[in-house]
Amino acid sequence: MNYVIIGGGISGLVSAHALLKGNPSAKITIVEKDKNLGGLLAGIEYEDENLYFDTGTHIFQETGNQELDQLLLNSVPSSDLIRFPIGQGDICGTVFNRNLQKNSHFPDLRQYKNNNILKSILKHLNDLEEVPLIRREVSLDNVATARFGKEFTQNVIAPIFEHTFDLSINSISAFSLLLTGWTRVILDEEKEWLSRSEDSLYRSLVAIPEQRNLPRNLHHGRRSFYSKENGSRAFIEGLTKHLTQHDVRILNDCTINSFDINALEFSLSHSSGTINSLRAEKVIFSNGVIGTAKVLGTNLTNFGFEKPMRHRVIDVVLREPCDGDLCYLLGLDPFCDWYRVTNYAAITRDSMDRRLSIEVLGDNESKSGNLIQNCLDQLKEISFLSSSDLEFKNIRDLPSGFPTPSVQNLTSMSELWLYLKNLLPKNIMVGGIGAQGDLFFQNEVLEDIYKKTLQFA
Ligand SMILES: Cc1cc2nc3c(=O)[nH]c(=O)nc-3n(C[C@H](O)[C@H](O)[C@H](O)COP(=O)(O)OP(=O)(O)OC[C@H]3O[C@@H](n4cnc5c(N)ncnc54)[C@H](O)[C@@H]3O)c2cc1C
Repeated sequence: MNYVIIGGGISGLVSAHALLKGNPSAKITIVEKDKNLGGLLAGIEYEDENLYFDTGTHIFQETGNQELDQLLLNSVPSSDLIRFPIGQGDICGTVFNRNLQKNSHFPDLRQYKNNNILKSILKHLNDLEEVPLIRREVSLDNVATARFGKEFTQNVIAPIFEHTFDLSINSISAFSLLLTGWTRVILDEEKEWLSRSEDSLYRSLVAIPEQRNLPRNLHHGRRSFYSKENGSRAFIEGLTKHLTQHDVRILNDCTINSFDINALEFSLSHSSGTINSLRAEKVIFSNGVIGTAKVLGTNLTNFGFEKPMRHRVIDVVLREPCDGDLCYLLGLDPFCDWYRVTNYAAITRDSMDRRLSIEVLGDNESKSGNLIQNCLDQLKEISFLSSSDLEFKNIRDLPSGFPTPSVQNLTSMSELWLYLKNLLPKNIMVGGIGAQGDLFFQNEVLEDIYKKTLQFA
């Protein structure tokens, strides 16, 4: 069987592996529009400085699908693989009420003692009979109110999320709670929390105050992993090497000029100017629902998508190392111009690693001007950094941008998915971001495309 996979990001590579597993003699061609494979996980190399930085997700986490996890783990030499013990590797803090909160990334509301917000949440939780689910197409306002009550939603969630996503709380989707990980709150001291931790409703909405003390039996049990030397691109290189050894053809730097959906025939042009046609018996689009729709010439304006948020990544090398074990820090506070910081020293466990990536969402006025200095000053003010002196800095715009987590976009995405499902014949499969209507996170996207490809093969 002759397969064409569109997109050479991690989804496309994983899909090719699944095809080979089902049929080792399959003829597979991967078409990638960029020079490099890997999509978001290709990272960036500053060759003159001999420096590498990841983009987007950095640490991998087991998906729970053993075959897939093994595939990812085996793609990197074991000497280079860091496998974090359960509960470590994704230690994340947040800025909340202008303070660096290291104990947990969930908002710590113990500071609101004797205040109406805390009282109102406690009353709300007491009245709840079941855990309100986080439905991605529903508004943040509705879901946060159902989970934590009106007082907290209006007074705490609204100003923070409206600042971060530059939309009103009614227009932001509840998906934003998953993006930021703000699915629970901290209300109680550890002793009280432990005494109530058997109660699943309580545990689903109230977090332990110190993330490092979560009892082992309550961890999800999935280990995180990372390549010490080469970061996320190491997984891309490893997956690709195996594919080329099995004669998978990779056409990178290639633009699709047209696609005949009935004949399954593509016309491609390479950046060198050559034009080829490529025919398949089965086609896998791994470039997500929007990427697929663009190749098909679908008019996306009919679906009402809002434009993605501007997403910039500031890569820096500090003069002084950043202490502490926080791999990530969320800037969910109107005080912060940045959205998320990645601290490579905590991920690579090398205290001499002085790289940070600082992600900035949106482009309102405070995020223009001296953005790099402003972000570093803010990190110093909350004592995340002892000094804002730098050895290297660069700021880059991500071309794909951050998907604005609005109710409208989530609705449009699910409508587009249904449209493609009805339109496409059985010999075309779609995976990647937006598959099944709302998939986004790396683990869910990979699990979906891996399983679906095995059946499709
Ligand atoms: C800005 C951003 C931040 C994210 N942060 C996180 C996070 O913190 N945690 C998390 O779990 N997930 C995160 N994600 C999601 C995660 O990155 C994705 O689930 C995962 O990387 C998807 O991999 P992919 O291969 O499906 O997509 P991509 O990495 O986007 O790869 C798609 C590939 O298809 C290629 N392509 C597209 N169109 C065409 C075409 N017409 N012809 C040929 N090739 C084409 C692209 O060039 C690219 O190489 C983030 C996503 C984005 C966009």
